[in-house]
Amino acid sequence: LFAGETDFLKGVVAMDGLPEADRIEVCFAGRSNVGKSTLINALTGRKALARASNTPGRTQEVNFFTLGDSHYLVDLPGYGYANAPLPVVEKWQALLKRYLSGRQNLRRAFVLIDTRHGVKPVDHEIMALLDSAAVTFQVVMTKADKLRGTALDDILAQVRGELARHPAAFPELILTSSEKGEGIATLRATIADLV
Ligand code: GDP
Repeated sequence: LFAGETDFLKGVVAMDGLPEADRIEVCFAGRSNVGKSTLINALTGRKALARASNTPGRTQEVNFFTLGDSHYLVDLPGYGYANAPLPVVEKWQALLKRYLSGRQNLRRAFVLIDTRHGVKPVDHEIMALLDSAAVTFQVVMTKADKLRGTALDDILAQVRGELARHPAAFPELILTSSEKGEGIATLRATIADLV
């Protein structure tokens, strides 16, 4: 799947612009600065495919990429900006809710959690939203190179405790470092195995 072409298809700001649900779909969600763009670039082997733009107004698009000829990879806008105005947050939540509840080809959501920070209240909110939309989600820990030993164990325990509270959570998490290339093959295999 990842040996083939990955291309940017389109960015949408409203539900009527979604591409047809004619491919298996996975989406990526995470707080701003979690390392989502870097991870998507590492995953697809393409530099700067997902633009690492962190300006609130410019990142409200849902970006669709084609993976080979069978999958869509969807980059959801980052959430949890410190200074995001309430209307922006509400618009984002509304778009996300509609996307999650209406997308029949969506097989799994990957929720990215920064290994240094663990699950924050905004992450919990997204997971609760995925629960109510009955979209299976799997946590991908990012920047694993930043933490080792018991500090890492403590964070993983916190995340697993959180996952136990979410019926839509896939119990196994994936530890990644885009910088070191750790976990990228596992994540690719996980996506390729979805049917
Ligand atoms: P996004 O806002 O979620 O798209 O985050 P970015 O991909 O732009 O990454 C945010 C910051 O984290 C950047 O400075 C990246 O260089 C850094 N970063 C991303 N992935 C890793 C990683 O695996 N390890 C380390 N140490 N830093 C990372």
